[in-house]
Amino acid sequence: MEKFTVTVLVAIALLMFSCKGKSVGDDGVESQNEQEWTDSPENTDQTESTTEATVDISELKAYQYSWSENDKMPPLVIVIDDFGQSSGQLLEDFAALPREIAFAILPDLPHSQTSARLADKTSHEVLIHVPMQPVDNSANPGKRYIKSGMEQAEIADLLQEFYAQMPNAIAANNHMGSAATADYATMNYVLQELDELGLFFLDSATTGKSAVPAAALKLGQKTAKRDIFLDVPDNSDATLIGKIQSLGKYKGRNEPVVIITHCHTRDKLIALQKFIAQISDMGIELIPPSKMYKKLASPA
Ligand SMILES: [Zn+2]
Repeated sequence: MEKFTVTVLVAIALLMFSCKGKSVGDDGVESQNEQEWTDSPENTDQTESTTEATVDISELKAYQYSWSENDKMPPLVIVIDDFGQSSGQLLEDFAALPREIAFAILPDLPHSQTSARLADKTSHEVLIHVPMQPVDNSANPGKRYIKSGMEQAEIADLLQEFYAQMPNAIAANNHMGSAATADYATMNYVLQELDELGLFFLDSATTGKSAVPAAALKLGQKTAKRDIFLDVPDNSDATLIGKIQSLGKYKGRNEPVVIITHCHTRDKLIALQKFIAQISDMGIELIPPSKMYKKLASPA
């Protein structure tokens, strides 16, 4: 009975928080990831206390990938987005992942600071998952977010306040932001302030029109960009196999491959565990974002 009450409360809280609508327009397929927290409450697993000890990757293993030890594969960086709303066992289980995997934490949420402290305790690097304005006005990036055309001082204040909530952050990436990241002036201010704070920017690449490369070049800053969304369109083995297959095209590249996934459900955790088991089987190295940053080329 008590568990039922908790479940209902969590469900109501999630419904209240959930974003409406779906990003459309020039974002293409990746904009599906801008729909945050729209999973049904049954799937959020927040009250579940069971932990899967092992992950069955037999089906994935049956897949014959073409891979040779002579192929030079860049290391992978994995960032999990949208921490801040989850707590309890699901959060703990994400924290039990290999320490190279980074947590991107949304500010201003009930568990933003708890998540940052847990990441610190479990040696995961933290990124500020900065809410930014999407093209679709019906999507809600959060209580406070970076808008296109914001004044420099306002952007600086906001980023400083977000950073204060997770002072162990080493970088930042955008939550949504298909409008804000496409605006040169806005991103120029964002990158300048992040640099002041000693943080670098990872572009989640939610638009094909990102102004980040141009702004970073002008400022002489190194930035990284997301290559793969692991959980798009779903968390099935077929999708995972497709993603593993797609790694082949990065062979020989110097820059690490950046993979982003999300923390919303246990299904996403299990898919990520399978992916990690598979890539470690293939001898691909996993590195934290700070190590990636050292490997990035400086802009010309
Ligand atoms: Zn996000």
